[in-house]
Amino acid sequence: MHWSEQELLNWLDERLPADQMAALETQLRVDSQLRRQVSLLMQIRDQGGHSAGEIWQRAGLSCPDRTILRQFLQQTINPDYSEYIRFHLTTVGCRNCQANLVDLQANDNDASNIQRRQRLHQVSSQLLPDQH
Ligand SMILES: [Zn+2]
Repeated sequence: MHWSEQELLNWLDERLPADQMAALETQLRVDSQLRRQVSLLMQIRDQGGHSAGEIWQRAGLSCPDRTILRQFLQQTINPDYSEYIRFHLTTVGCRNCQANLVDLQANDNDASNIQRRQRLHQVSSQLLPDQH
């Protein structure tokens, strides 16, 4: 279904009839083209008190949980969904998820650093003579 710019603006202002709102929001979840179109509109118009986050949340385009974010980091997630998460993080600019992602990244680094240190320690204690 094709939406006119005016209809999309009406959606942002919650001025579309309820059945059309629902239809648009369903389509937003699966249609990356439409998501780009709406983000563009949001950028060029005054948002009238609605933050981008509120608007996307209303559309059910809400935050992925940490498990999903971790899969996104490890690139084990399905490509369609990964596109959506990138959209959520960069276009929507969700602070909450950005913070979560940074946190997950830091944890991952810690975990691999500890593993590396443990391995190094093992190797060096096998190679070096005991110095008691
Ligand atoms: Zn989020």
